[in-house]
Amino acid sequence: MKRVAIIGGGMSGLSAAYELARSGCAEFAVFEASARLGGIVETLRADGFVIECGPDSWVSEKPWARELAVELGLEAELIPSNDAQRRTYLLREGALVQMPDGMTMMVPSDLEAIAQSPLFSAEARAAYRREPEQAEDLKQSALRDDEDESVAAFVRRHFGEEVVRTVAAPLLSGIFGGSIERLSVRAVMPAFVRMEREHGSLIAALQSRKAKSGQAVFTTLRSGLGALVERMAATLPREAARLSDQIIGLRRTERGWRVRTVDAEEDFDSVIVATPAYVTRSLLRWTDEEFPELLGMDFSSAIVVALAFAPEQARSMKIPQGFGYLVPKGTDATHPQLLACTFMDQKFAHRAPEDGVHLRAFFGGAAAENLLGQDDRALSELAIQRLSEALGPLPEPQHTIVRWWPASLPQYAVGHLARMARLEALVAQYPGLHLAGNAYYGVGLPDMIRMGREAARRALR
Ligand SMILES: Cc1cc2nc3c(=O)[nH]c(=O)nc-3n(C[C@H](O)[C@H](O)[C@H](O)COP(=O)(O)OP(=O)(O)OC[C@H]3O[C@@H](n4cnc5c(N)ncnc54)[C@H](O)[C@@H]3O)c2cc1C
Repeated sequence: MKRVAIIGGGMSGLSAAYELARSGCAEFAVFEASARLGGIVETLRADGFVIECGPDSWVSEKPWARELAVELGLEAELIPSNDAQRRTYLLREGALVQMPDGMTMMVPSDLEAIAQSPLFSAEARAAYRREPEQAEDLKQSALRDDEDESVAAFVRRHFGEEVVRTVAAPLLSGIFGGSIERLSVRAVMPAFVRMEREHGSLIAALQSRKAKSGQAVFTTLRSGLGALVERMAATLPREAARLSDQIIGLRRTERGWRVRTVDAEEDFDSVIVATPAYVTRSLLRWTDEEFPELLGMDFSSAIVVALAFAPEQARSMKIPQGFGYLVPKGTDATHPQLLACTFMDQKFAHRAPEDGVHLRAFFGGAAAENLLGQDDRALSELAIQRLSEALGPLPEPQHTIVRWWPASLPQYAVGHLARMARLEALVAQYPGLHLAGNAYYGVGLPDMIRMGREAARRALR
């Protein structure tokens, strides 16, 4: 039987392990440096609260997470986001201002809603109005297949500078944590690139789309995303999960790959490297000098502060209706800002006991780097202070969870997809080597599951 090593037991590595277990055609081991599987996915459950320490859901449009949940017997647990309540706010001079209805990221389908919104100046509203009128010109200048540009440059071409600053930057920072002046539009917003090619105008493209089947924007699981991890882990043969077993060396042998832990070496026919790219880079640096170059991307860190308020505490709170708010980048580096806050008990059912309130605050980008080294208490106090500035005074939470996710979000810089094509060609030169994880083709959970499972199938071939 083929022997496969999986390095990293996050969502991508664990999905690979699950696929191998399901096939029954390989002997394998998952080497995980920490004491638990799941990586950034971690769910805590207490007093009726389901507290997500990392991701809270997946984008419903991508099928792979749902498919996996169904296979794992979790179909009855699937819950959609409460889209009837889907409002997002932007924090502006201490006040929450609602984003206009009908926006897909920074692109509106309803220009009337833009005209009524206090978020935009007359100039930005005029830029939005002009965009569909310039459809032909935009189509002519659309990105060619071999071209890429930053998200900021792309949005600027369509809607001007103000929309870049007020909407696009906080939205994308909320997902990637980094600067939209560097993020690749082709890697991060491929659907918009396709729309530009077909319609020129993004507004016209959205307006021409048929009404969707009523599918919610996000999906999660009633008992939390940790259920995916628990169910997949339960399918692995005993002894397959090697927890607290960090891989410190990887090299080719005549017949396959040798992995080295702190106290042992073991040979395998194939290896699936599902670690963060900076670890993958270090493990593969002696295999080929091109790996360090192609895996040399930047990362952004994130801090999650989850606050759970029991019903009696929550009574005095006045949280507006919606999914949460975003914070545009501040100019004062001594005043670390939140990136965003999610109103978890409104975004999904079953995240809090009835009348309880569950908030998740995020620090990211430079603010998160500046907070390195602060203890959990200082971070939760800072988060509560920042939240109070937007939401009014907050009572003492029943539960406070702080999670640091250092260098957790790879930055897909301009040219990312071209680099990934070179990386794929390089990997193909090394039989038995497979990569999976959030550094390559998407950072969301559905993509982790897809890439992990595909890597396992390739390893079996
Ligand atoms: C705060 C936050 C919120 C997010 N929210 C969402 C969301 O709502 N929806 C969504 O779809 N996505 C979200 N994401 C993105 C998504 O969670 C991640 O991209 C995904 O979980 C990454 O999975 P992974 O398997 O690639 O990596 P990881 O989860 O980082 O797993 C890698 C694993 O490798 C292990 N490892 C590292 N080095 C070694 C070594 N040398 N030997 C052995 N093991 C090693 C690590 O301990 C870790 O367990 C979020 C990300 C963050 C940070």
